[in-house]
Amino acid sequence: MTDLRKLHLLKAREIASLVNLQQLTATECTHYFLARATELNPKLNAFNQISGELALKQATAVDKRIKEGEKLPLAGVPIAIKDNINVKGLATTCSSKILAGYISPYEATVTERLWAAGAICIGKTNLDEFAMGSSTEHSAFGPSLNPWNLNKVPGGSSGGSAVAVAAHLVPLALGSDTGGSIRQPASFCGIAGFKPTYGMVSRYGLVAFASSLDQIGPFAQDVQDLLLCSMVIAGHDPRDSTSSKDIAALSLTEPKIDLKGLKVGIIEGLSGFSAPVEACFAAFKETLVAQGAEFKTLSMPLSISQALNVYYIVAPSEASSNLSRFDGVRYGLRGQGGKDLNAMYETTRQEGFGAEVKRRIMIGSYALSAGYYDAYYKKALQVRKAIGDEFAAAFAEVDLILSPTSPFTAFDFGSKSADPTAMYLCDIATIPVSLAGLPSLSINAGFDPENLPIGMQLTAAAFQDQQLLAMAKACEELLASTLIGRQNAFANV
Ligand code: GLN
Repeated sequence: MTDLRKLHLLKAREIASLVNLQQLTATECTHYFLARATELNPKLNAFNQISGELALKQATAVDKRIKEGEKLPLAGVPIAIKDNINVKGLATTCSSKILAGYISPYEATVTERLWAAGAICIGKTNLDEFAMGSSTEHSAFGPSLNPWNLNKVPGGSSGGSAVAVAAHLVPLALGSDTGGSIRQPASFCGIAGFKPTYGMVSRYGLVAFASSLDQIGPFAQDVQDLLLCSMVIAGHDPRDSTSSKDIAALSLTEPKIDLKGLKVGIIEGLSGFSAPVEACFAAFKETLVAQGAEFKTLSMPLSISQALNVYYIVAPSEASSNLSRFDGVRYGLRGQGGKDLNAMYETTRQEGFGAEVKRRIMIGSYALSAGYYDAYYKKALQVRKAIGDEFAAAFAEVDLILSPTSPFTAFDFGSKSADPTAMYLCDIATIPVSLAGLPSLSINAGFDPENLPIGMQLTAAAFQDQQLLAMAKACEELLASTLIGRQNAFANV
């Protein structure tokens, strides 16, 4: 019999192995995690809903399949799903008032794959409304709290998923990353988070924010679990027209990476990091040099100076178009009291959307309007292409590009809410990579003097996802000895 008192400290792969070996049933495991999530969520606000009924139904089905002799890669593994991904029969809120009462009539491709692989849906997690933000403070249901310090934001927009994993409410969670929304909260919460190459993972069933940038990916305690989850969710999907046709299947048993001779690029002029982040970065570089890695400075001037400008034209433009479907007719909230159809649209959107979403829709509508399209949107697309070219040229010279994930560690609630541009600057290191569509992840590499986690971002060339995860695993092993004993208070609860 397995010790059922400490299941929350197990990795996803360890749970799957116990369930496959019939040393633990998916049902026992599910009861444990549902009880834990139910007990601790009021302190953390990680979940918008805990899906007990669905979870237990799925667990019964997994136990039956295991008894019949099936082996499942995620047998009985509890997972949390960001609440902008549709799970059939559950509410999808996008942490917005405008979707009040909406129950998803269909299943996203990623979740369909997860359930087929034996995973169990513990619940839907909180986010910045429609994934617009870097702190979860833009959620209509209140922010999630960082388990390392409850006075700090967990990052965003996938903050709820990051908190759920960091506080060991689940070993795995899905997020979505448009400009940094998996990597930055992973960094703030001291866990691992992976944004695959654009096109690796189907977006079918993800509520679109900026379709040319959105990508689903996993959070976990370590890189091996990121790989395990990615292996299940990646692959071509005819229901997403931007899904890549020839995706090499990820494998769990790739050969180990030798850090000796690994060529690591540092982007010249990428600056503005706080002193503790800068120190952690320097220490990490030294560790890699000691292993024989070779560093190269990369000149990528547009990625440094223009990426944020480009992103804040392209992403709001796409958002203004994507969010026009929320008008009170087909989904969720319907504003009352309007005298005609247009008035109904207006009251619905006025009441239903929060301030940040309205700001993005206005910026996007402006950038796309006649007369400004060429000056803003078209120009932004041209610069985006040039940024992609800078990365392509860089990867002719290096295997990996390294930087801190975020300029600073988790900040106080309210400290950036009054100034949208201060919030946007959270993503200076993640956004250039997103514009280029590259695979990128964040791993924990240290702590600041306040005991808040610091993440490092590793980025590889397009479709080198397997290689990237292998390099990250090697780095993680190197860092392990310096991180021993660091646990947030929730690990022991
Ligand atoms: N923080 C960025 C934004 O507000 C990125 C969000 C995301 O990746 N979804 O748009």
